[in-house]
Amino acid sequence: MRIHAREVIGLVLIVVGIGFEKQWWAIPREWNPWQPLRVADPITPVTQWKLQRLEDNPEACLAALQTTPGESLVYTPLAPHTPVEGCPLENVVRIQRSAVTFNRSFVASCPLALTWALYERHRLQPLARDVFRQPVTGVEHYGSFACRNIYHRANARRSEHATADALDVAAFRLESGRRIELLSDWDDEGEAGEFLHQAQEDACGLFGTVLGPDYNAAHANHFHLGVRGVSICR
Ligand SMILES: [Zn+2]
Repeated sequence: MRIHAREVIGLVLIVVGIGFEKQWWAIPREWNPWQPLRVADPITPVTQWKLQRLEDNPEACLAALQTTPGESLVYTPLAPHTPVEGCPLENVVRIQRSAVTFNRSFVASCPLALTWALYERHRLQPLARDVFRQPVTGVEHYGSFACRNIYHRANARRSEHATADALDVAAFRLESGRRIELLSDWDDEGEAGEFLHQAQEDACGLFGTVLGPDYNAAHANHFHLGVRGVSICR
């Protein structure tokens, strides 16, 4: 009996079809753009795309934030309010702590809170364990909300801080108590400098806008980690 190519192709298509139905080839959730984002899932190139879709979907964003495992993010959802005239806030939460303590609680848009949770868990802590063999236990920041334009210029566009869409991070504290600070350790040639440079690189592609000491003098003492923009990294 001769087997025709057409029959073989037909048979293959049937098997592939059954495979999809039985989910032999199910795409892992973190690679499937249509599956909701979960904080514990590994980060993939699809993660930033999922984050961006959540910017216009407050309920889905809060649902994703709730997937943060255990006590690794302590926050309170806030009703829409206008803390400063001209800068209404909506879809915001107050972050009290995460797996790290902060020098003070801060207001964050839901996408910012979610991106931070992903960054801390999947990037910052593994990096700290790699470089220092211990976790980060504290993060010092200069704040997230400020009702202003970029560089305080009257004719510039609104800053990401005007909508609590960015956090300015100044220093990290390790479990041993050692403090790694942007201002004094960025140019360090040892592990502190290595840690800070890698921490910035690891933030790129997850946060939409990442600015650091190499960008300009205004950022000599902090990382600007914002959720607007796509992979802006300077
Ligand atoms: Zn900033």
